[in-house]
Amino acid sequence: MTFHLVHLGCKVNAAEMETLSRDLLRCGWAAGPLEGADVAVVNTCTVTQRADSKSLYAIRRTAARAKRVFVTGCFSELEREAALSIPGVAAIIPQSEKANAAALIRASFGAVEKVHDYPGDEALHEPSPHPWDREATEGSSHARVILKIQDGCNAFCAYCRIPHARGLPKSVPSRDLLSRVRELSGSGVTECVLTGINLGLWRENGSGLEDLLGWILEASGPMYIRLSSLEPRSFEKSVSRHFDHPRLVPHLHFPLQGGSDSLLARMNRRYTTAAYRDFLAAMRERKPDLSVSTDVIVGFPGETEAEFEESLAFYAACGFSKVHVFPFSPRPKTAAQAMPGRLDAKLLTARGDRLKAAAARWEEAYLRSTVGQVQRFVLETEPIGGFAEGTTDRYLKGRIPVASAGGLKRGDSAWVRVPAEGDLFEPVTKGA
Ligand code: SF4
Repeated sequence: MTFHLVHLGCKVNAAEMETLSRDLLRCGWAAGPLEGADVAVVNTCTVTQRADSKSLYAIRRTAARAKRVFVTGCFSELEREAALSIPGVAAIIPQSEKANAAALIRASFGAVEKVHDYPGDEALHEPSPHPWDREATEGSSHARVILKIQDGCNAFCAYCRIPHARGLPKSVPSRDLLSRVRELSGSGVTECVLTGINLGLWRENGSGLEDLLGWILEASGPMYIRLSSLEPRSFEKSVSRHFDHPRLVPHLHFPLQGGSDSLLARMNRRYTTAAYRDFLAAMRERKPDLSVSTDVIVGFPGETEAEFEESLAFYAACGFSKVHVFPFSPRPKTAAQAMPGRLDAKLLTARGDRLKAAAARWEEAYLRSTVGQVQRFVLETEPIGGFAEGTTDRYLKGRIPVASAGGLKRGDSAWVRVPAEGDLFEPVTKGA
């Protein structure tokens, strides 16, 4: 039996697809091309209108090429009928059943075992009651592993339908997480990315992310730990006490969304620009060269010229390494969908273009500020023609000459110096 997996959207979706891939491989199935695959699974996303369109396109394209097609993820959770109506779609796998997707798929062919019951499956020795307690590899088996520690969100930001798709916050027990990070570290994994829908909502018997991160850093040496992103709304300043830890990767995605207090209030973000600035200061006090990327929405309903200008000025002052710009996209069943003051398409495009141009300049300024810095580089490709591609700990993309770095291979790490021009990093020392 052959399978082909397609995923859209965030790191949590990526982690879930990798888990499914691993489970199917363990059942003796083989990963293969989409064309003619016995089974294909599309893991969809619904974060924007564009994500919906891309999900529909991916389902149609997949359904036309594979023999049996399953659809799962946030889009099919909320738009079940639309996904099911596409000819060739066999079934929707609900969000709550994603962790057992392999068993469900096999059951559709008459297999009756549960995913955790396969003989010889040493890594899955204990059935986990927590379907999100699974991890994925990114790039290479020992380069970067994504570990899902949390799922769901109860923040209900005015534009976001994720809480509808993924439900209320759920936390993976620390005992499971700590034993997993020990295993990963012991097996030579270089970096573990802690991921979730809203990491700051991780809770267990009165403990929060600050405690968990401390326990994980203690248990995980010599593996590096990366926080995939933190929401300002659930950010606790005390977490920043870990930011100068030598094995906490000095990059954080910290979604801001709006740069004016009135905009943030309409978005129901429940923090102010002053609070956000204060959070950034707390993190940078511990780690002055922390790389911070963000997401911002342009053209939220009622966005005035003054709010837009205020936002531009605020973003510029934050010193972001990367700003992802999202034009407002009305989502069904969200508060923002019914809000008055929707911008006309021309104005939305004009503001979006201005913001993207400014974001490119800020990124350029950040890059210039890193010239000469020594950063940790992870090889994400096998060397071709003497060069390997990869990403630094602060998410700078580039290449290194492998011969002068001592014959490194995919998944290895090296310390490199950021060049003044181009994307060719100079290796400084080999190894993490
Ligand atoms: S914090 Fe807001 S934007 Fe993020 S997932 Fe929760 S509701 Fe959506």
